[in-house]
Amino acid sequence: MSELAELVPYDEALSRYEPVIGLETHVELGTATKMFCGCPTTFGLEPNSAVCPVCLGLPGSLPVANRAAIEYTIRIGLALNCSIATWCRFARKNYFYPDMPKDFQISQYDEPLCTDGWLDVAVDGQIFRVGIERVHLEEDTGKSLHMGGATGRIHGADYSLVDYNRAGIPLVEVVTKPVAGTGSHAPVVARAYVTELRDLLRALQVSDVRMEEGSLRCDVNTSLAPRGASEWGTRTETKNVNSLRSVERAVRFEIERQAAVLDAGQQVVQETRHFHEDHGNTTPGRSKEEAQDYRYFPEPDLVPVAPDAQWVEQIRASLPELPAARLARLQSQWGLSDLEMSAISNAGALMLVESTVAAGAAPSDARKWWLGELARHANEAGIELSELAVTPAQVARVSELVKAGALNDKLARVVLEAILAGEGEPDAVVEARGLAVVSDDSALVQTVDAVIAANPDVVAKIRAGKTAAVGALLGDVMKATRGRADATRARELILQRLA
Ligand SMILES: [Zn+2]
Repeated sequence: MSELAELVPYDEALSRYEPVIGLETHVELGTATKMFCGCPTTFGLEPNSAVCPVCLGLPGSLPVANRAAIEYTIRIGLALNCSIATWCRFARKNYFYPDMPKDFQISQYDEPLCTDGWLDVAVDGQIFRVGIERVHLEEDTGKSLHMGGATGRIHGADYSLVDYNRAGIPLVEVVTKPVAGTGSHAPVVARAYVTELRDLLRALQVSDVRMEEGSLRCDVNTSLAPRGASEWGTRTETKNVNSLRSVERAVRFEIERQAAVLDAGQQVVQETRHFHEDHGNTTPGRSKEEAQDYRYFPEPDLVPVAPDAQWVEQIRASLPELPAARLARLQSQWGLSDLEMSAISNAGALMLVESTVAAGAAPSDARKWWLGELARHANEAGIELSELAVTPAQVARVSELVKAGALNDKLARVVLEAILAGEGEPDAVVEARGLAVVSDDSALVQTVDAVIAANPDVVAKIRAGKTAAVGALLGDVMKATRGRADATRARELILQRLA
């Protein structure tokens, strides 16, 4: 079946169809050694230097499970309100791939370490509970490098090289249950879930969760059914969605695309699709294999994992403050509303706002700059807030300058823009561009007098009691000072001179 070119506009699609989403997140654990051997997991080593007979799958080598990786997975499971298995086994997932030396991947199949949990996410002040189906452990594969071609892809390459340093790196997969009932919030709920999960993993100190470096990777499932239908639609799985923003865009695109397929009287094909960052669209990949294609069977070379109940309770007791608790604590410290807090959290700005407050800004000001002016810049550039070339300390300094009356909001925006453009620290920008508010009365008085002299008709109106006309003079003063006048002081001076 050929792909339809048209999309149904988002709001229209949602007026007739109800989406169900699901997320599978792969997390690279931050253990010092690999999952089943003692090779280091250090990033950026010489290719094929962090390998041994076990992770190369040489005959006769025997894997041993990494205790730290199991502990990290239990931490994740507990933080996600899961049940922890008292006994479970690893399984072999059999398939051929050139960068997988054993021709099977050790994973978990029907006996995952953690099952049946949940994570709450707040969107627009509303809580959505995302069910967690399972959290399981597996090993990563190696990496193929296709050389000689223009695109770095296998097509057009002269030859390929394989780097097995990544083979055997511990990965955790967190799989949600299908999430229904989110309606038009679906794309934002998907993004909010991945944001919340990322923050949770970071708080647990089990991974560096860098999406841009691939240590957190997301597959997004989306299906659509007519409103009121008793069954869910056929789902597609969009692979390797590599930023929070892309998670939202991928769900949104699939809703618009699947609505067009259903409108045309066709069936949505159950398949794997690829998200394209540049166009914000998805295109079909290989069709979804059935689970039995992998011929899973229990890994005979590993003993079962049977975490002791006492050990699990020790791990539970050692969990740090989790993001939801932290959010509640910060909200009461900062005195912000539910809506304001969920906006900060969903924008991925909690750490930024927290650091800005720690650097001396008022919480409401920190929120205002990050979610207003700076969010606009990040959106325009298509990047995350944290990727902007401005630090919380710089935002705090700008906010301080505004508070001290040295900058007004308009000038502060100019200063932030200059910082983003690489012009240096806030004070240096103010100095170099001559942006400080004119609060020196003698300079301001001269301008006020000049404006009064140039507008006798407005002055006459004010003297006749039409004080609203002061605004016109104030506008001229601001224009004459290129926005640098302290507006409150200028208004006072105008009234004084005309009294
Ligand atoms: Zn090894």
